[in-house]
Amino acid sequence: MRLVIKIGTSTLSHPTGHPNIRHIENFCKVVSDIKNSGNEVIIVSSGAVSMGRGKAGVENSGNSLAMKQALAAIGQSELMYTYDKYFGEYNHTVAQLLLTASSFIDAQQYENFISTMNKLLELNVIPIINENDTVATQELKIGDNDTLSARVAVSVSADLLILLTDIDGLFTADPNKDPNATLLTQVNEITPEIEAIAGGASSKVGTGGMATKIEAAKIAMEDGCDMVIANGKNPAVLYDILEGKQVGTKFTGEKRN
Ligand code: GLU
Repeated sequence: MRLVIKIGTSTLSHPTGHPNIRHIENFCKVVSDIKNSGNEVIIVSSGAVSMGRGKAGVENSGNSLAMKQALAAIGQSELMYTYDKYFGEYNHTVAQLLLTASSFIDAQQYENFISTMNKLLELNVIPIINENDTVATQELKIGDNDTLSARVAVSVSADLLILLTDIDGLFTADPNKDPNATLLTQVNEITPEIEAIAGGASSKVGTGGMATKIEAAKIAMEDGCDMVIANGKNPAVLYDILEGKQVGTKFTGEKRN
């Protein structure tokens, strides 16, 4: 299978901005094993801004665009260093790809992106994608890696997109506030009701919430790519997802021919 796995800031880093070593180490171990068993894996990773905050030691540095861009530039190298270190332990090579919205709009850039991706997959490397926050200012910004990962999944005709986040999936209401909230295990269509329950963000550290995950589901499903939202705190759920077990919320798209 060709998998695109998106992992969010809240899974990768502590609220302090320092890397969540337990999560990252487990994630790299499971992904390495999944690759060893013959799957292709492409990672879309957030975490640069948060890790930049931790690394630069500026926890209360505010949220101006220039500050976030600077923090992303600092944190991106920390992020890639961490992936390189842990994937390296399992003999896997990683590659960094930084994209913007224009990478999907400009025909030449898109062609370059696809041919680089194809070559990396041919070389058995794990591509790790993030938005190029240095140049992706407002009009160029995808803004959240949920929709970026869906665009990536569609462009490489992935079999499955998995969004690892800090919540078990899509609930009927916010489970932090409503004790009666129940997990939706299967979604076959993005209805206005689904969009309405996805209204609020789930976490303070990432950019996306459920709303951007539903946006991602729309992009993926329209192209026949299934998507799963699952909790990233236990990356072993990736094994269960690949074995077709019920994990988190599965969004099933019309199959491609
Ligand atoms: N590109 C941002 C980062 O790496 C993340 C955007 C998001 O939270 O999805 O920090």
